[in-house]
Amino acid sequence: MIIDYRSDTVTKPTHGMLDAMMKASVGDDVFGEDPGINQLEQMAAEMFGMEAALFCPSGTMTNQIAIKVHTRPGDEVICDKLSHIYQYEGGGIAFNSGASVKLIEGMRGLVTADEVEAGINPDDVHKAKTSLVSLENTSNRGGGSCYDFSEIKKIKNVCVNHNLTLHLDGARLFNALVAKNESPKLYGETFDSISICLSKSLGCPVGSLLLGTKDFIKQSRRIRKVFGGGMRQAGYLAAAGIYALTHNINRLSEDHKHAKLVAQTLLKKDFTGHMLPVETNIIIFEVVGHHYTAKSLAEKLRTNDIYCIAISPTQIRMVFHLDITPEMVQRTIQVIQAV
Ligand SMILES: *Cc1c(COP(=O)(O)O)cnc(C)c1O
Repeated sequence: MIIDYRSDTVTKPTHGMLDAMMKASVGDDVFGEDPGINQLEQMAAEMFGMEAALFCPSGTMTNQIAIKVHTRPGDEVICDKLSHIYQYEGGGIAFNSGASVKLIEGMRGLVTADEVEAGINPDDVHKAKTSLVSLENTSNRGGGSCYDFSEIKKIKNVCVNHNLTLHLDGARLFNALVAKNESPKLYGETFDSISICLSKSLGCPVGSLLLGTKDFIKQSRRIRKVFGGGMRQAGYLAAAGIYALTHNINRLSEDHKHAKLVAQTLLKKDFTGHMLPVETNIIIFEVVGHHYTAKSLAEKLRTNDIYCIAISPTQIRMVFHLDITPEMVQRTIQVIQAV
């Protein structure tokens, strides 16, 4: 039994999801004729109270499309230094949009309204034009940390006052919504655009959605084509997405519970140094002492069929998801107690 905590992207479709995919009726989505895609996009838009949505192959693409539509070459994007759009999208902000970044040293990947305001460039020909603020909720590199919505509201006010657009990388937004008991509509009314991943903790094999106004999504659809992301009979994937939005959101609290149980076990071990607060489905902890490095501890766990990643020379990350059963959590706890 392999217990895979490397990422919440490793999940495989369940029988229920596969069944829904098999039953999909499909058409050519580049012609706008795939009924499942149209239904999924409408369903997601309604869920967030936003005007429209666009299905894309990945969260990198939904983020990069949003940045492309919201900026002009030479503009500047404000984001936290740990953010996925900066760290893990292959330099896409520069590559695709010709924009620069103003990095904020936030706390666990989360920024404050004051930090955002301080990061805005003055209206001066020497300076890049600040045009976009991008937040990440939950923050991946912040250990699944969640915003307090009151801070997002303040950031929104700063954006309104300075005429900046506000994007949300919500790859794991549903984890935050479940952990904080918040409604998607709250986010829909606040952000100009939202990216959500269906292929993370929601358990789909492929897919992300970009949400925004009708006009924004119209522009985004054009950029998606330019980026090579227009898909044809994508309704098979839409069926998985509809299934996930219907069945796999409330159960996320289970993943959060599992993460806390394993975290408690880790905290009793000598090799566990600083651990980021476990708010959702991610554990990031430091490995200390003479017995293990992050790499050798990950290797040791791997010999026990427990897979996780050393994300830095000193840190290990474990991500919980719907293919992790209570039995696997029990087994993990036993192995950790024994190593
Ligand atoms: C996974 C992830 C993405 C998108 O990743 P893809 O693999 O391109 O779907 C975006 N933002 C965050 C925070 C992520 O964790």
